[in-house]
Amino acid sequence: MTGGNDHMDASEKDIDKALRPLSFDDFTGQGKVVENLKVFVAAAKHRGEALDHVLLHGPPGLGKTTLSHIIANELESGIKMTSGPVLDKPSDLAGLLTNLEPNDVLFIDEIHRLNPVVEEYLYSAMEDYRIDIMLDSGPNARSVQISLSPFTLIGATTRSGMLTAPLRARFGISSRLEYYDSKLLTSIVLRSAEILGTPIYEDAAFEIARRSRGTPRIANNLLRRTRDFAQIKGTGTITREIAEFALNALDVDQNGLDEMDIRILSTIIDKFKGGPVGLSTIATACGDEAETIEEVYEPFLIQEGFIKRTSRGREATELAYQHLGRPMPQHLRG
Ligand code: ATP
Repeated sequence: MTGGNDHMDASEKDIDKALRPLSFDDFTGQGKVVENLKVFVAAAKHRGEALDHVLLHGPPGLGKTTLSHIIANELESGIKMTSGPVLDKPSDLAGLLTNLEPNDVLFIDEIHRLNPVVEEYLYSAMEDYRIDIMLDSGPNARSVQISLSPFTLIGATTRSGMLTAPLRARFGISSRLEYYDSKLLTSIVLRSAEILGTPIYEDAAFEIARRSRGTPRIANNLLRRTRDFAQIKGTGTITREIAEFALNALDVDQNGLDEMDIRILSTIIDKFKGGPVGLSTIATACGDEAETIEEVYEPFLIQEGFIKRTSRGREATELAYQHLGRPMPQHLRG
């Protein structure tokens, strides 16, 4: 999801940058994806060619942007960043493409939100490293062909299902990022704490990790907020007690569910008798966008077994009733 960092001020952005791994060896987790990418990058470098186009998909905050920077670093190439909704007209895309050096990377976040006209231009750029640009309009209109340097497009999306078939077909490499387990997230929290110069106990790092919805971005955010609590309420060291205190103060519950997760579950259970209920109805009742619920909240709630997606809508599971301490309805009992 784009804009994951939009709310940050300058110093938070600096911290975010400092915490970003810069090489494959620094990057924790996503074993198979990383192992494969290492091979493809090494082979492209060996041949002196541009790496094939890469599609990275999966829930927000799992490292798509980070991996794209790493790929460019490992290729020893430059990278230009943009996002689907920003590329308003073909000339926006042409401006970026014509400024690429041979074997550079162009990163397009939220590629599922490309304007269809811009997307059409991307096809020939990806396939033949050329674009046809229309100059002037009306009787003076003419098309000129511009050759591009060979380049690698890295597209990132939280919704690969929304990509058109022709665009999807032009990516030679397609990798899905998965949620991280608590052990991997613990090592990410420990690494980040070290970079921030914050002393932390391993059990405290684990506590933050297991309540981070499987997401490094959330783990890093919770670490930063916990560090604040450690400085103001403690001695500066993050202990397990401080971590628990901070996480409770931040309304992150024992399973890592935040206020919005709880609102979604209680809406399904209390207002719609546990479902099935449609996504847009849930969204209206929760006061959020259906797209946000589908991309950001639902994948984790489904993975953790709190809700089920059925053809008739979303249903709360036994676990959701237990978690909220609601009486179990007849059909879920025993
Ligand atoms: P979005 O699509 O929402 O922008 P994203 O998938 O591109 O998210 P990133 O911005 O790459 O996610 O990562 C979010 C944060 O998590 C970054 O600050 C990065 O430092 C950290 N991070 C992500 N993956 C890892 C990892 N494997 N190891 C260590 N830190 C990571």
